[in-house]
Amino acid sequence: MNDVLSRFLRYVQYDTQSDERSTTYPSTEKQRVLLRALVEELRGIGLADAAIDEYGYVMATIPATTKRPDVATIGLIAHVDTSPEMSGAGVKAIVHRGYDGRDLVLPDDPRAVVRLAENPALREQIGNDIVTASGTTLLGADNKAGVAEIVTAASHLVAHPEIPHGAIRVAFTPDEEVGRGTAHFDVARFGAQFAYTIDGGSRGEVESESFSADAMTVTFNGFNTHPGYAMGRMINAIRMAADFVHSLPSESLSPETTDGHDGFVHPYVVQAAVERTSVKLLVRDFVTDGLREKESLIKRLADHAAAGYPGAWVETVVEESYRNMKEVLDRYPAVVENAREAVRRAGLYVRSRSIRGGTDGSRLSFMGLPTPNLFAGEQNFHSRLEWVSVQDMEKAVETIVHLARVWEERS
Ligand SMILES: [Zn+2]
Repeated sequence: MNDVLSRFLRYVQYDTQSDERSTTYPSTEKQRVLLRALVEELRGIGLADAAIDEYGYVMATIPATTKRPDVATIGLIAHVDTSPEMSGAGVKAIVHRGYDGRDLVLPDDPRAVVRLAENPALREQIGNDIVTASGTTLLGADNKAGVAEIVTAASHLVAHPEIPHGAIRVAFTPDEEVGRGTAHFDVARFGAQFAYTIDGGSRGEVESESFSADAMTVTFNGFNTHPGYAMGRMINAIRMAADFVHSLPSESLSPETTDGHDGFVHPYVVQAAVERTSVKLLVRDFVTDGLREKESLIKRLADHAAAGYPGAWVETVVEESYRNMKEVLDRYPAVVENAREAVRRAGLYVRSRSIRGGTDGSRLSFMGLPTPNLFAGEQNFHSRLEWVSVQDMEKAVETIVHLARVWEERS
């Protein structure tokens, strides 16, 4: 199990940043370099069918060891790309042995300090080994910790055929961070009945609930003319959009004022000109019906703003982003329950968390593959202050091995 750290330190050397502006798949060619290396490594540990497809998806099988014919095939999934928000090139990983509670000052930027006061999760890491980057890049624990944990668990299972388990499918995917991780994921070819993304935070986390999410575009149409001769004729779409944004709730229903189980409406991009101004909004709620209410509120406020400008008109377009995976997972309670049991057998207590966002599992669950998210030990996602504890990574490996056993016992 000590291998998980050395694997992790090897994977973070690869720059695998994805790019949302790219039109190729994967969005960046460099992701393929790590994906290809993973194929070789999986073959090396005995997963003979490991292969990469044209889109970059790596899939492989840990063959079943059970004699029972009816054990479900489960899947383990992690993404290799890192966030476009922060450089992942030239990562210098540092292992801080025996963390003693003091601030971790990262050497390449003295302002980059991982403080206990700002990281409550560090409180349970005293004495453990913490891995950080050096202050100028992210670390890439999101999600290379998950990749290292899955490969290490696979290697352990192959080396211990006396552990009974069903067939286990492994997938490593590109482009999760740009929301396209499942765009070409072939659920039928993957062939698992249930799966887990290993892409969560603190030890013991089992996440079975995500936001339901839509994107909405509100476009105000005005009329442009020479401003020197515009009296009584010009209709300024920018003013309309400004009135609209101003009318959105800000004391509630906004990302800045909600937490826990509350959803929100979030204007995040404006493209403005006198003739036409569009406002893009994220709409989020844990209940899909709650999205409808928020969307009709947005329409009412947009119509109201346009009504102040005779001759103007407004269009609204709603696009579905993803849905709360709980709507699917509630129909297959064993998927979450078996994960909780595996966490307990690893000697941890279960933390159930609702994700205020989406995961590849949210999409996969609605593509026919129920997929909750399990902890990988990742902390401070997408930040220069990203860190992961070696002992949490080891616990994640242990949890995966228990999970394989639990499915065999309970099938
Ligand atoms: Zn991730």
